[in-house]
Amino acid sequence: MERQDAKKRVEELRAIVEEYGYHYYVLDQPLVSDAEYDQFFHELLKIETEFPDLRTEDSPTVRVGGEPLPHFKKVEHRIPMLSLGNAFSADDLSDFDRRVRQLVGDSVRYTCELKIDGLAISLQYEEGRFVRGATRGDGTIGEDITENLKTIAAIPLKLKEAVTIEVRGEAYMPKPSFEKLNEAKEKSGDEKFANPRNAAAGSLRQLDPKLASKRNLSMFTYAIGSIEGKEIQSHSEGLDYLQELGFRVNRESKRCETIEEVIHYTEEWVEKRADLPYEIDGIVIKVDQLALQEKLGFTAKSPRWATAFKFPAEEVVTKLEDIELSV
Ligand code: NAD
Repeated sequence: MERQDAKKRVEELRAIVEEYGYHYYVLDQPLVSDAEYDQFFHELLKIETEFPDLRTEDSPTVRVGGEPLPHFKKVEHRIPMLSLGNAFSADDLSDFDRRVRQLVGDSVRYTCELKIDGLAISLQYEEGRFVRGATRGDGTIGEDITENLKTIAAIPLKLKEAVTIEVRGEAYMPKPSFEKLNEAKEKSGDEKFANPRNAAAGSLRQLDPKLASKRNLSMFTYAIGSIEGKEIQSHSEGLDYLQELGFRVNRESKRCETIEEVIHYTEEWVEKRADLPYEIDGIVIKVDQLALQEKLGFTAKSPRWATAFKFPAEEVVTKLEDIELSV
């Protein structure tokens, strides 16, 4: 591609990705499927990698999420809530593993977790009491949705230890609640939600906690943002501790010694995900040892110690099956 064509295409792609991102992150009303969005996003990333001088600081490839809505109090995240790099194939996962090993050596272990398709939430506890809950927002500034989060039964208001801790996780709407909600919306003639993720985000990013309480939301916690007075050596140890404190932690996570084990886990879940009572859109792979995470650090948008394997879009899987059946 010539530089001049690249410049023109980058501008087109930025406008498209920004528009789709605004509808998805700010309005909770996506215009296209995630797979379509990902295609545009990765085309943009590819051209920016090939022509680094076309990169800008406000490109959607370096920004996280979207602006917080003005009607909420704003919360500043002391530790930014970032996005994740993506892997779409076993080869991408092997490349990720190679990059990690080059930087920290061969002692690395991974934790694989289901990538719950909801919205990222930060929960602040002071001496064991829930004091504040916020959305990710643009990664630095989120929205204070404490009252709405208090309506979720899976979020403890008091922990089993009087610890001061910031916890991160995914709030989501279970599939049966989503189906019921959309049936009711159809009956009343209201516009239906596009998917459980948007239904969860729409329920939590509105001002009436009574409405949120009727939506039957749930939450899995998957990380400690910060903690006072306790040493933790690994991500998997952190997950066990969260469970001890009374948080809901997804039990399908697995510790893997090699990238082949990781790849096997991702393949298994392409099939098994349809049976889950909640939606997942991929698998998150994290370096388990926190000392190695620290060594690997972050890019502007995401940690170098983690990646998200994205499942192929479900429509594509169905089409492939149809083709196989008709052969
Ligand atoms: P991401 O895919 O980069 O992943 C980061 C998020 O994963 C976290 O913020 C958290 O919310 C979530 N997560 C779930 N389970 C987790 C776990 N176990 N550990 C850690 N994180 C976990 O998220 P992003 O930056 O918000 O969005 C990028 C994705 O959003 C795109 O790939 C695209 O599919 C989708 N998107 C779609 C549209 C659209 O129009 N359809 C627009 C924008 C973005």
